Amino acid sequence: MKRNTGQDRSITQHWRPATQAVRGGTRRSEFGETSEAIFLTSGYAYDCAGDAAARFAGEQSGMTYSRLQNPTVEMLEQRIALLEGAEACRATASGMSAMTAALLCQLEQGDHVVAGRALFGSCRWLTDTLLPKFGIQTTIVDARDAQAFADATNDRTKLWFFETPANPTMDIVDLKAVCALARQCGVRTVVDNAFATPALQRPMDYGADIVAYSATKMMDGQGRVLAGAVCGTEDFILNELLPFTRNTGPTLSAFNAWVVLKGLETLDLRIRRQSENALEVGRFLEARVPRINHPGLPSHPQHALAASQMVMTGPIFSFEVDGGRAQAHALLDSLGLIDISNNIGDSRSLMTHPASTTHYGVAEEKRIEMGVTEGLLRLNVGLEDPADLIDDLDQALRKIGL
Ligand SMILES: *Cc1c(COP(=O)(O)O)cnc(C)c1O
Repeated sequence: MKRNTGQDRSITQHWRPATQAVRGGTRRSEFGETSEAIFLTSGYAYDCAGDAAARFAGEQSGMTYSRLQNPTVEMLEQRIALLEGAEACRATASGMSAMTAALLCQLEQGDHVVAGRALFGSCRWLTDTLLPKFGIQTTIVDARDAQAFADATNDRTKLWFFETPANPTMDIVDLKAVCALARQCGVRTVVDNAFATPALQRPMDYGADIVAYSATKMMDGQGRVLAGAVCGTEDFILNELLPFTRNTGPTLSAFNAWVVLKGLETLDLRIRRQSENALEVGRFLEARVPRINHPGLPSHPQHALAASQMVMTGPIFSFEVDGGRAQAHALLDSLGLIDISNNIGDSRSLMTHPASTTHYGVAEEKRIEMGVTEGLLRLNVGLEDPADLIDDLDQALRKIGL
């Protein structure tokens, strides 16, 4: 059998996801290194002037400049595309640069976008502030209602943009229903899949056109680097996304790409264990707090939908206390093990108060509309022993009288 050196896609593309996560996209250099090499270089030298000209003319394959191509970054892009089941992927410097590029590269003045109301705070800034500034109108809908997207669509509508599960209310969007409606309406879907990652949910299997990531979250998974990615058809990536990213420059560094490559090797293991831990901690909290939004618990109104489109429900959920910001902050200040931190997807357990952190920049009436109340807390459950996490929550809840 032919040895895999990573160069021959006919060998590698049939591997199953667990194999892709460890080996997908690997390209060995002349030294035969087992772990992917980090190519920390901004430029590349050519054998002759004719080669340089041929590369710029697109007549010769090869690297020209690291804003445009880098071998380590390309390995990551291929690995994510293989995991996602996408034709192509482009990595970016952060999740927000991925979202911005995915939207702006295909929109122009006069276009219209329909977006889910529960979005990451900065994504709401894109839809509510940035796009309108350039003459692109947005309508915000309750993404739990598939028909609401179609009802808000007009003849200028180009995109439907949403995340599922949504941050931080854990709303679930029916991927199959929404993507099918989008096709009927002749509109493209852009899905922010940061919470689930391809290990738990592959939106393209349900008909999504473009899937964008904050790879900072579960893909790195150990709170080390910022990174992002956009997946789509080869045509979309080459002809729409690449002209935008190459010329505006939200490039991922080779070092950060390498860290995410290492993260992907353990993504499946981590996300499964963290999902199990989050269920255990969620079951404990459900008996102690007034409200919990955890798609893995039968009390979540979209529990069945989550179970039908996700392998497991992931490490993140939110819950509410009745005493508003004062009681929510008091709970955070009583924690001994779980960190007060607004990151997610980390192997450490982290808790934040969205209204005063991740959604601080969202106007109060919009926060209320999104379900980000003053008593809402979001928890990312890590890889610690869940019994220690439950002990920590138990003593903190007692301190605030719950
Ligand atoms: C964190 C996050 C982003 C932004 O990603 P960065 O890597 O922080 O730029 C976008 N969408 C969702 C759902 C996120 O959780």
